[in-house]
Amino acid sequence: MENYLVKAIDKTKNLRLLTITAKGVVAEAQQRHDTWSASSAVLGRTLLGTLLLAGAELTDKEELTVRLLGNGPVGPTVVTAKADLTVKGYVKNPHIALPPKEDGHINVKKAVGQGWLEVTKDLGLKEPYTGQVPIVSGEIAEDFAYYLTKSEQIPSAVGLSVFVNPNNTIGAAGGFMLQALPGASDTLIDQTIERIKKLPQLSSAFLDGMTPEDLAKKILGDDCKIFDPEEVAYKCDCSKEKYAKILETLKSSQLKEMIEQDHGAELTCNFCGNKYHYSEDELKNILAKK
Ligand SMILES: [Zn+2]
Repeated sequence: MENYLVKAIDKTKNLRLLTITAKGVVAEAQQRHDTWSASSAVLGRTLLGTLLLAGAELTDKEELTVRLLGNGPVGPTVVTAKADLTVKGYVKNPHIALPPKEDGHINVKKAVGQGWLEVTKDLGLKEPYTGQVPIVSGEIAEDFAYYLTKSEQIPSAVGLSVFVNPNNTIGAAGGFMLQALPGASDTLIDQTIERIKKLPQLSSAFLDGMTPEDLAKKILGDDCKIFDPEEVAYKCDCSKEKYAKILETLKSSQLKEMIEQDHGAELTCNFCGNKYHYSEDELKNILAKK
């Protein structure tokens, strides 16, 4: 398994941790959307954070969507993950590359800008639940941590890293999400924060072959309990039928226009880039169903 996450708990059972490595997932997103470095970093970190959140919170048929709505050049970023740990996502502007920061890193904060982080959870209830926090950092990991702490009242620390090669391919992608449970003492939290501060730089560590299990031990200590790895994957669930249902929601006048003026329609899935073509006859059938 090359793309997977693990869940772990510390020996006192008061800290819950998820760690992930998912270079293949981010590479697939990079290829599907032809993203350049800053767009790859924003989309990749959001894919990682959303998968970690899904791993921490979802069961059964549930899914969640993270919208990073910043005013920076990359534009809005949308990622959806399901309980089975499949994920899909896109950025509005894939072709953004920015001058690096002084330390040589991609300027993710500038690429994201200011705005809101919005999390919508579809838990199979009547109405999906949405929580929203301002973007406090723009580096994305801190924004996920702020969302969890503020909106879900779970004190959290998050680290997310994507390494982009000079030719725009993805070198490494991985991260962690630490959550303090109600029984966690201040001493335990302080000790763990000290361990996180001493972590090697995540992107170089993942490039050097660090596994999620290694990272879990570095954060929680060698005596933590690590559960079985769970595979993660990039997967879009779009289909011609699904987009036909969206066409059904258009106004009759809009459908008629597509039939009479365009003699057909072509829709492109934002998440995966697949194109679906509808002939005049197919559009007439859709119109007849309304
Ligand atoms: Zn799709």
